[in-house]
Amino acid sequence: MTTERTFSIIKPDATRRNLTGAVTKMLEAAGLRVVASKRIHMTQEQAEGFYAVHKERPFFGELVSFMISGPVVVQVLEGENAMARNREVMGATNPANAEPGTIRKELAESIEANTVHGSDSLENAATEIAYFFKPEEIVG
Ligand code: ATP
Ligand code: MG
Repeated sequence: MTTERTFSIIKPDATRRNLTGAVTKMLEAAGLRVVASKRIHMTQEQAEGFYAVHKERPFFGELVSFMISGPVVVQVLEGENAMARNREVMGATNPANAEPGTIRKELAESIEANTVHGSDSLENAATEIAYFFKPEEIVG
């Protein structure tokens, strides 16, 4: 077991429905600690840069539009096996396929408006954390 840090976004569908606390409560209940958090409204350039790996996918334009449609909460989560643990509590990308008790099953609206983002590898976690946070903004 190693303590890891991963990166999370509470997406615009959740901030619009005032679910920041509800999502965070589920993350904390899963053993994750919020060691950095800020509410931001991403610019188009920021969102395009963040999702650059998806730029060839057919839903890229819509995904960027959705992610800038309202505020998001970007967070750094810390804990034992934080990256995998966060992916587990998030549930499958499509909420219809997500396990009961996961954030997406309980709260997501659709495959696009799916409430949370979570890094899918430790390497991506480090890149994504650095994209939004300075080291001194993360307090473990
Ligand atoms: P995330 O990267 O947000 O944590 P994920 O890793 O489960 O989610 P990805 O395959 O990386 O899913 O897709 C990134 C995001 O793009 C999804 O979370 C979702 O918001 C959106 N997305 C994925 N597939 C589709 C689709 N078929 N149609 C519309 N939007 C989609
Ligand atoms: Mg992903």
